[in-house]
Amino acid sequence: MNLSEYIRNVENFPKEGVHFKDITPLLANKDAVSFCLQQLVAMVGDSKIDKVVGIESRGFFFGTLLAQKLNAGFVPIRKPGKLPYSTLKEPYQLEYGMDALEIHEDAIKKRERVLLHDDVLATGGTARAACNLIEKLGGEIVQCNFLIELEFLNGIKKLQNHPVKSLLKY
Ligand code: 5GP
Repeated sequence: MNLSEYIRNVENFPKEGVHFKDITPLLANKDAVSFCLQQLVAMVGDSKIDKVVGIESRGFFFGTLLAQKLNAGFVPIRKPGKLPYSTLKEPYQLEYGMDALEIHEDAIKKRERVLLHDDVLATGGTARAACNLIEKLGGEIVQCNFLIELEFLNGIKKLQNHPVKSLLKY
């Protein structure tokens, strides 16, 4: 199956000049979802995973499915103010200005083996901030795992010292 057929390119979203990769056609097709999940699981290999961490919000879709398949728990990383319990917060740089991500302070135990998942790796700022949160809680990042990597933005550079795997590269 050619998964790229289920990724829609949307020009100028969310702002002028951005070519957005829309994964909703993939999500809407049950065979594409099954195939994609199987490939994501295969990317992890035999590594034991305790927690799959998904980044708000598109990292939640396959993040929870992956957690089930890998017999692991699921942990959400969210934008500030969305998680109800005590959180750790990690600010990060956007193209213009700053944003931040949060994780529940009890979501990962020391030395738990963690798979980080998101839909797209672009500049890498989001995934880097997520890795920092996981490491502050004492988690060991086994792999950073993406549906799509926008290679020309070189986000992988920000994730040095972690294995990065992506299903589709542009
Ligand atoms: P980064 O921090 O790597 O520049 O951006 C990655 C974050 O922005 C991810 O959470 C991802 O969901 C979102 N993102 C950036 N570009 C795209 C895109 O083209 N398509 C989708 N679906 N998400 C994107």
